[in-house]
Order: sequence, then structure tokens, then C-alpha cells
Amino acid sequence: MKALVYDKNSDKKIELREIKDPEIKDSKDAIIKVEVSSICTSDLHIIEGFVPRAENNIVLGHEFTGTVIETGSGVKKIKNNDRVAVNCITFCGECYFCKKGFINNCEKGGWDLGCTINGGHAEYARIPYADYSLNKIPDNLSFENALFVGDILSSGYFGSKMIEIKNGDNIAIIGAGPVGLCSMITSKILGAKKITVIDINQKRLDFAYSMGFCDYIINPLIDNVEEKAKELTGKKGFDGVIEASGGKNTFEIAWKIARANSVVGVVAMYEENQILPLPYMYGKNLTFKTGGVDAIYCDELLDLLSKGKISTDFLITKKFKLDDIVEAYKLFKNKNDNDLKFAIY
Ligand SMILES: [Zn+2]
Ligand SMILES: [Zn+2]
Repeated sequence: MKALVYDKNSDKKIELREIKDPEIKDSKDAIIKVEVSSICTSDLHIIEGFVPRAENNIVLGHEFTGTVIETGSGVKKIKNNDRVAVNCITFCGECYFCKKGFINNCEKGGWDLGCTINGGHAEYARIPYADYSLNKIPDNLSFENALFVGDILSSGYFGSKMIEIKNGDNIAIIGAGPVGLCSMITSKILGAKKITVIDINQKRLDFAYSMGFCDYIINPLIDNVEEKAKELTGKKGFDGVIEASGGKNTFEIAWKIARANSVVGVVAMYEENQILPLPYMYGKNLTFKTGGVDAIYCDELLDLLSKGKISTDFLITKKFKLDDIVEAYKLFKNKNDNDLKFAIY
């Protein structure tokens, strides 16, 4: 089959190669025909060497949907011909962490697909623990409609859940990229009354505003974020802040604009350490939650998509054939302000 292989020793780092089709290795595996996949910033992180645990000569890609073509003898829920969304987190469903819902820390899994085992930028993929790592796509949704369920949408929702939104809350989201936008649409579902989106990219901000889910936008290059936050919250600060940006000073902005006794949820990935200046936040009594997505709400998200309560179709701004995936990666790395996600067929 054709597959996009990461080769750290080659100059190009990635190459579309002909490799052996995947086979069932464990009774809980399934093989799927990949229908649509997407490029994620984490794929670029691997190529750029920021993910030390990434294996060399691995097939990249961890955000995809497909059709099941083969299942191991131990797979019970998932059947041949099922249309499925793949969870970016492989998890056994039975260990200490899985039982508590902390699947990102599964003792036998974690972020494996497209990192430590072959992923979805290929014609076929092997999915371990298929009964847990795959979610059936409702009949009224296409492979595209469900493309982001297992990664970006789950991450955005994870952020929204982190800040424990209560009905009527006035919250802020830092970052108007794909994850921030997914937090925006799901925060509304969870009951946020007012949403402010913050980003230094005006085009992205304008787009976020145009979607009709947020009430205010703040561009820190134009406005003083702390002053604006006071203005928008009766001087109290936001009832919850989701940090989905990972910029140089965005963590600092997050705790500064949060109301005393609120939750700051960090879904962003940073390239450098961040400072937690405890003397300055003494008495603010904040709760910080951080981490990689525990993507345990895939069925719930598929249900919201199926009922038309949310949609992530707006995220796909370019489409490519698998044959052109190397070119797609190049364009994704240097994407312009209007581009969000690329779909590969
Ligand atoms: Zn990803
Ligand atoms: Zn587990």
C-alpha cells in the first residue's frame, strides 16, 4: 500500500512509499481502509524532532476516519464494514488509568498511532484495541463530518470540560486555531453565556467572530488584554479560561484574566517552560488543569454532530489526494491565515 513514512535520516524527512499492508497482530486489532485523514500540527512536531518518543520509519497521521475491513477474534463491538472515527489515543479500556477515564495515560497505549506505531496517512491502518479506539460513525454523517472527532474536536471539548463551565458563565479562550475554535463551539453547548476569543491573528479572530459562537474578540496586538477583560467581566475576570494557543506569553495572559477561584484549562502544547509566579497569584485561588487530551467523549461528540448541534466541516480549508500528501505537508507548514486543516483522500 501507499503510506507517508517519516524518515529522520533523509533530507526530506517524509516520503510517500510503497510498504506492506498492515496485518492483525493481536486478537483485539482491527484493520481499516483509511477514507479521509488530516494533517495535524503534532505531525509537524514529529518531523521537526520535537517528539523524542516518535519512532523512525513510522507511518504518520493520527486523525482519520475509515471503514473496517478485518477484525481480530477478540474484537466484539466493531464489525466489518463499520464506518469508524479513529481515536488519536490508543487505549486498552481495562487498566487503572483507562477505568478512571484517563486514557491518555493508558498503561498499554497513549498517543501511539502515527508516533510509535503506523498511523493513518496510508491506504490502510492497523488499530489496536479496536473496540475502544474506534467509534462508529452515525449513518447521517460522512467520513469528513466525523474527521476531527478523535483528535482536534476531542481536544477542544477537553478544554471546555476542564474549566467546569456552569450555565451563564462568561469565559475566554486564548487561540483561534482549530482547537480553540472547537473549544468555542463546545463551550456554548456546555452552557457558556458569553465567550471571548483572544488571538494575535486578526483574520482568525474575524473568522471566529463570524461563526456566531463568540461575543467578543480581543487582539493583544491592538488592545490591552487585561484592561479589556476587566471591561467585559465587570472587573472580576473570566469565569474560566481555556489556553489553546501555546504562545510565548499566553499562559501568563490566561491566569491574569481569570477570575479569582476560577479554573484555567491548558490544552496548548508549549515549546518552552512556562513560569508560575505564585507570589503574584497568591490569594487568587486559581485551579490549573493541564494535559494531553483524554479523548473519552467521542460517542458524545458524534451524537452532537449527528444531531446537527455542532459541525466541524468549516475546519477543512484544502483537500488533497494521498498521492499529493508530501506537497500538502509543505503547504500546511507554511499555511496562510485563512487555512485551518487539510483533508487527505
Ligand atoms: Zn493531532
Ligand atoms: Zn489502559
